[in-house]
Amino acid sequence: MLLGEVTMTELEMALEKTKTLVIPFGTVEAHGSHLPLNTDALIIREVVKKAVDQGNVFMAPPLQYGVCTSTGAHPGTIGISPETLRAIVVDIVRSAYGSGFRNVCLISGHGGGLHLLAMREAGEGLAAELDGLNLAVLCVYDLIQEEIISLAETKNDSHAGEIETSIALYLAPNLVKGRAKEEYPVNTFPFITKDKLKRWPGAVWGNPAKADVDKGKKIFEVMVKKTVELIRRMEQQG
Ligand SMILES: [Zn+2]
Repeated sequence: MLLGEVTMTELEMALEKTKTLVIPFGTVEAHGSHLPLNTDALIIREVVKKAVDQGNVFMAPPLQYGVCTSTGAHPGTIGISPETLRAIVVDIVRSAYGSGFRNVCLISGHGGGLHLLAMREAGEGLAAELDGLNLAVLCVYDLIQEEIISLAETKNDSHAGEIETSIALYLAPNLVKGRAKEEYPVNTFPFITKDKLKRWPGAVWGNPAKADVDKGKKIFEVMVKKTVELIRRMEQQG
């Protein structure tokens, strides 16, 4: 069920059956020369939409902006600060709790370290503050760590590479413009620099040439399955 498409009366009735809300988190972020800026938001929105249908729970309208550090200087990236993300997470979850939700799952399509850290930090405070709240904070790729080994060929494929390009080819082939070349950033972690474009000009981390629509379908379906399992586990706790 899509939270944005029910009335307040329908919500009150539905809350008798489920108090679970899944909130997708995306980014507006450079994803190579071949993928759209909203790749993370697109993927996570479609995964969650399918998972909430199967789990009979609610999906909140997605948050379209996130914390982007490595691609912060690339054209098209529009990021928010960790401080802003923490504040948004706190406000949204507090308000959702006020509406009657007791199981809230914050699931990100973006795996950035600071982004997830901000979400988790906000989550810790919320869990301490709100009695009876079951809260999960994660990146969707955390759910498929084991499966990805057999589903993707590229080692350390993490941004606009084989995995994301495959899923985009499956979900929105018209938005995929050819294939950027294989790339891995140089001299990044543990170094922090403002010269990000020089060390990572193409905003690709992995090999887009290995992407295809069948892989995308398989990866997408595993993401949905694992998200449904997570929703069930949350509901059993609650
Ligand atoms: Zn991405």
